[in-house]
Amino acid sequence: MTTTQESPQQHVFQAEVRQLLDIVIHSLYTDKEIFVRELVSNASDALEKMRLKELTEGDVQEKGKALEITITTDEEAKTLTIADSGIGMTEEELVQNLGTIAHSGTKAFLQAMKEKGETGPDVIGQFGVGFYSAFMAADKVEVFTKSWQPGATGFKWESDGQGGYTIEAADDVVRGSKMVLHLKDEAFAKADKIKELLKKYSNFVSFPILLNGERVNTVEALWLKSKSSVTPEEYTEFYRFTAHAWDEPFFTMHFSADAPLSINALLFVPGENNERFGMGQMEPGVALYCKKVLIDPKPTGLLPEWLRFLRGVIDSADLPLNISRESMQDSALVRKLNQLITKRFLKFLEKQASDEPEKYREFHEKFSRFLKEGIATSHEHQEALAGLLRFESSMTEPGKVSSFAEYIARAKDGQEEIYYLTGPSREVLETGPYLEAFKARGLEVAYFTDVVDSYVFQSLAEVSGKKLVPADRAEIEMEDLANDQEKLSETDSSSLTAWLGEKLSSRVSGVTVGKRLVGSPAIALTEKDAPTPQIRAMMKAMGQEMPEPKPTLEINASHGLVKKLSALKDSDPDLAEAIGTQLADQALLAAGLVENPQAVAARMNSLLERVLK
Ligand code: ADP
Repeated sequence: MTTTQESPQQHVFQAEVRQLLDIVIHSLYTDKEIFVRELVSNASDALEKMRLKELTEGDVQEKGKALEITITTDEEAKTLTIADSGIGMTEEELVQNLGTIAHSGTKAFLQAMKEKGETGPDVIGQFGVGFYSAFMAADKVEVFTKSWQPGATGFKWESDGQGGYTIEAADDVVRGSKMVLHLKDEAFAKADKIKELLKKYSNFVSFPILLNGERVNTVEALWLKSKSSVTPEEYTEFYRFTAHAWDEPFFTMHFSADAPLSINALLFVPGENNERFGMGQMEPGVALYCKKVLIDPKPTGLLPEWLRFLRGVIDSADLPLNISRESMQDSALVRKLNQLITKRFLKFLEKQASDEPEKYREFHEKFSRFLKEGIATSHEHQEALAGLLRFESSMTEPGKVSSFAEYIARAKDGQEEIYYLTGPSREVLETGPYLEAFKARGLEVAYFTDVVDSYVFQSLAEVSGKKLVPADRAEIEMEDLANDQEKLSETDSSSLTAWLGEKLSSRVSGVTVGKRLVGSPAIALTEKDAPTPQIRAMMKAMGQEMPEPKPTLEINASHGLVKKLSALKDSDPDLAEAIGTQLADQALLAAGLVENPQAVAARMNSLLERVLK
């Protein structure tokens, strides 16, 4: 693509950009001032990249030029100019960066904005609204830029933020980018106002910022300072700066280590988990530095994928400066960093959980999906992650939660298993047929009510050496309960189970007399490794054929209904079969294994009709 100075090339914004601009211009005006931070942080990013290029590339434009941000206000012309000596942009990059949106989450974001009809400063920046925020304050923006690449030439980009923009070649452009904002709002042409905003938002820019020739910031790398010399306000400001966020960090973890690797890390759990609101997958957000030089703002291999919600900085003096994105994942050093930091972070969470259980609980509510993803996707930190899970159980009051450690501490002597149930809610699990056997024997059942829990337990087999066993499994051995109710005799029991087993052979794999039940007549028990109803539903939704579930039907030989059924099978086998079928279907229904509940209801109706004759 070539352009001549005489003919500015017309371009149209990508549709998403037009939508975004529409939102930016029309609905975010209450927080207009944030554009200053967005542009300064873009300048800072471009300078960070330049610092690395100077260290790793042999040849760059205007080598040795001071890395700084120069801001000028002009009240008369009503302009604000923000310039940096960073990496600049080529013509292609101008089109790519300032004409389209590359971020995958942006579409979801636009959709969410439309549906909810609300906007907030916390979403700006995270979704690449960054540069476009200039149009909150300006009705025309000019960008003069020259790339760092040897031989690059200067360009001017210009737009009124409506439908499109122009690009033309420009002379006298120096390396970096200069954004000239022609302001709608004169307030931003006042030096005092800009100074105030820079103090507020851009304290952590690690390059000099000059406002009308005067230095306004002090440069320091907060993460290299000692914990005791940093105030909570500084942490919050730094979090906002590095995470492009506007809220408070939920947790802040600051640590340094010398061995086995030299690490200075400052990590934040953000105030909110945006993935919860359907805004798409977050991108990793912990930047990697080596001795204050930014190596990669969003390295993918640095931390496990499930820690993508973390924000902040990891600085390791041991890293080679020229480590590339590609070699990152293969680097033994990076793997080591990954392990060390993940372990530290999990320890940190453990400590938060014991020091401030209420706050931890809130964290768990917002972020537990990530911990679960960690359990489901790798064995590496499974034990620690499982220890961080919280759940209600048959022994906790509604609304109160426990950990596995607490469950184990409460367990009966000799109990080698941790029993749990997955389902949509505590209420559903408690009205189901599975609990009564455990309750009657004083055994605790943990409740897992998040839709992802079934998948988590596919990968998590045990915790602290205790096997995790779903409470609906046939294999669970139960001790006898003292029971003064009269039971069916052995002979009657075996003839009933044999008869029922035959009649129900299309529904269940067998019928047994069991010891579990107290108040219910029958229960469906699934085989070891059988997929849970949630997993069945998901597989089916994905078009996968699933074999019919064939659980075992366990009947309660002390239950009145079962006793009467035993007699009925001889006096009226037809009716007995209809009742037996209904009994089985109801048990399957309670187990979530019936695909057509209407059929069960219809059979019930005809049964009632028969009985009422
Ligand atoms: P984000 O910063 O979240 O990527 P922006 O809309 O703010 O989104 O910017 C889009 C892209 O434009 C940036 O990723 C960067 O590549 C480029 N860009 C923006 N400002 C500058 C600048 N001052 N110097 C060089 N490139 C820039």
